[in-house]
Amino acid sequence: MTEDRSLEAFRDEVRAFIRESATEEIREAGRKTTSVFAPFKQAMAWQRILADKGWVAPSWPQEYGGTGWSLEQRYVFAQECNRAQMPPILPQNLQMVGPAILGFGSDAQKEELLPRMLSGEDFWCQGYSEPGAGSDLAALKCRADRDGDDYILNGSKIWTTYAQHANKMFALVRTSSEGKPQQGITFLLLDMGLPGMEVRPILGLDGAPEQCEVFFSDVRVPCANRVGEENEGWTVAKYVLEFERGGSTMGAWLVPAVERLREQCEQVDELGQRRLDDPVLARRLEALEIEALAVEHTEKRVNAGLKHGQNPGPMASLLKILGTEVMQRFSELQLEVTGLRSLVYDPGALEIGAAPSDFSEDELLAMPYYMNTRAASIYAGSNEVQRSLLAKAVMAG
Ligand SMILES: Cc1cc2nc3c(=O)[nH]c(=O)nc-3n(C[C@H](O)[C@H](O)[C@H](O)COP(=O)(O)OP(=O)(O)OC[C@H]3O[C@@H](n4cnc5c(N)ncnc54)[C@H](O)[C@@H]3O)c2cc1C
Repeated sequence: MTEDRSLEAFRDEVRAFIRESATEEIREAGRKTTSVFAPFKQAMAWQRILADKGWVAPSWPQEYGGTGWSLEQRYVFAQECNRAQMPPILPQNLQMVGPAILGFGSDAQKEELLPRMLSGEDFWCQGYSEPGAGSDLAALKCRADRDGDDYILNGSKIWTTYAQHANKMFALVRTSSEGKPQQGITFLLLDMGLPGMEVRPILGLDGAPEQCEVFFSDVRVPCANRVGEENEGWTVAKYVLEFERGGSTMGAWLVPAVERLREQCEQVDELGQRRLDDPVLARRLEALEIEALAVEHTEKRVNAGLKHGQNPGPMASLLKILGTEVMQRFSELQLEVTGLRSLVYDPGALEIGAAPSDFSEDELLAMPYYMNTRAASIYAGSNEVQRSLLAKAVMAG
């Protein structure tokens, strides 16, 4: 079989699996995802189905539950999941704390925690950001002071996605104020709900409590829960950032999303008109299609380089900027296409299993999605910071 034909056979296999294994409730949650974070319960149900199949962690080493797929297969898998509008797997377990433990965890931590991460028995939240320490993460102040075999935590975290659902947290904490700020940070694993810990959800612009504040007041965490050495948490955190090595799949999401928007524009309304007949809108849609394809091709080009041992380097920053900006332009056009009926505010209708509404899903979803997408240029390293990295790379080169 040629490589292309075997990839197409793999695509068919993925499609068939999704068709046969995704429940209606999981599909509804996928359609009603207005963020990179899908509705919690159904995202975890889909994770369990994929874990049973052995398909949940394509980027992990095979000996720990990875799939052994090529980068092309991983891309095809992402394309097909997005085309079928499956809920995206929440990244905290498999793309964040998992790689940290794979790279720096003890054998005991690997044995105990990795299987529970894959199955979703544990759900981890990421406790990095603090008020005053987001882009400048090394400025974090949440303190962990040694007391015998424990650390005592005092301080707070903010923007902790889905902390209200999590039973575990991985956190960066300050264990020393000596030397450079990066040198006094430690990577800790902790249980949620420890005495002295409080989680307060934050209501987002889209009406959903997606992020939280977390407060620590004399919270006791055993030193055995440390990943890597004391004061070397920065190295662990940097390793996690590099783990995916640019294996970005934003284009695999954007291309089918823009295809669906085109279908929406082709629908005939009660006056017999189609949005696509507006030449200005048709032109903007075409421009968006080209941009989405450009993201996809750039990702494939980076993947091709990875296969030949190249590091994505500054391309990872370029893809973050390009991908999130196209995503934001997509959300703006979607809002315009949906028109005045997208002004409805009905969070209840977005609940999974809600009774049918007078408004279509497109109408109910366009505004919350637009609102949520404003954050895309901030999270995962703000676009201004990515531009600074690119500028440094160009000026250094
Ligand atoms: C939806 C969402 C989910 C998140 N989930 C999590 C999570 O689960 N866990 C977690 O720990 N964190 C999470 N975060 C936090 C996220 O990582 C931070 O918001 C991000 O790092 C930016 O930090 P900040 O909010 O403190 O903004 P700041 O760093 O204060 O930045 C404010 C503005 O100043 C600009 N700026 C800052 N420094 C520079 C510079 N050197 N040069 C040029 N411009 C600069 C920024 O680009 C931005 O526009 C989440 C954020 C969002 C929006």
